[in-house]
Amino acid sequence: MRALTAETVLDSLKSVNGLTPEMVSGIAIDGGKVVFAIEIDPAQAKKMEPVRKTAEDAVKKIDGVKSVTAVLTAERKAPPKMQMKQAPQKAPQRPVAPQVKHIVAVASGKGGVGKSTVAANLAHAFKAMGKATGLLDADIYGASQPRMMGYREKPQTNAEDMIVPPMAHGLKLMSMGFFVEETAPVIWRGPMVHAAIQQLLRDVDWGELDILIIDLPPGTGDAQLSLVQNVPLSGAVIVSTPQDVALSEATKGLLMFKKVNVPVLGIIENMSYHVCSNCGHREDIFSHGGAQQAAEKMGVPFLGEIPLNADVRIASDAGATLKNAAIEEAFKNIAARIWTTLPAEKTTPRPPKAA
Ligand code: ADP
Repeated sequence: MRALTAETVLDSLKSVNGLTPEMVSGIAIDGGKVVFAIEIDPAQAKKMEPVRKTAEDAVKKIDGVKSVTAVLTAERKAPPKMQMKQAPQKAPQRPVAPQVKHIVAVASGKGGVGKSTVAANLAHAFKAMGKATGLLDADIYGASQPRMMGYREKPQTNAEDMIVPPMAHGLKLMSMGFFVEETAPVIWRGPMVHAAIQQLLRDVDWGELDILIIDLPPGTGDAQLSLVQNVPLSGAVIVSTPQDVALSEATKGLLMFKKVNVPVLGIIENMSYHVCSNCGHREDIFSHGGAQQAAEKMGVPFLGEIPLNADVRIASDAGATLKNAAIEEAFKNIAARIWTTLPAEKTTPRPPKAA
């Protein structure tokens, strides 16, 4: 019996029609789990789907293999599964969301701090303030806005080949999650992540908006950096929980935005404290107030705090709006603070600056 190695995987793929060894990359083996990528021309995405399946089946036959995931990938072009039309290579690129007054990124140093939840609730708050609002879920490693906004259908394209963002709770919504299945693993490499998000900004008919909130992927790596460098952001807000680890990661986020000259509009402390829904007792589960101190130390505004509360999770799981007046008010206050710090004029794209 041959051991499960990258060679045996490649060997088993020799039998697959339409696949050459050069197309296979990134073979990762973890116990009995095998993951690999098949590089393709995005125009061939539909044709290659059966090849991808056959490749998975071929690898499954190797002794010791428990699960196989093959993904189709493409470099510097649209992710194949999005099935969007690429702009012709030589044609001038469409401007990024030309009628959107302000694009504001919601970022976090690490995952799980509630960045997507805060982005969604801020979008609701801006809408409630009477602003024409859009929400772009750029967290393509874990697109959660389709679930939080309760909308999952694939969007349509219009006569100009632009993607029409669906309305969810009165917001224009766009998510990579519309183009990949929520449960399917997605492997995007750096350049692809960037190209895909650029496409969601350029090729989506956002129309006139006062504000477009971007839910960024968590962290401060290359994907986030290239994104914030190439989008005309009016500013960014950073979400953190009060723990030290989260705060030191948030500080990294702050430095990333400073490096590329994107104004940090402030820090929001999420899961700040807990109020017992039965007795009203308030408890600081994580050392509450850390984000405010960090904001003061870094010289950026502290925008406010959101308590840890089951209503927040329940609403986001159900794809509904929040049913808790006090927390809604907290989000509205934060949104109002953000709005007052935004310049009156539309932010013009700043020239790309080397990182
Ligand atoms: P991130 O985008 O930072 O990875 P999410 O927004 O997906 O984090 O939130 C992670 C989980 O925590 C979700 O289940 C969400 O409903 C929950 N959550 C976020 N903020 C709160 C809060 N203030 N109170 C209760 N649950 C929260």
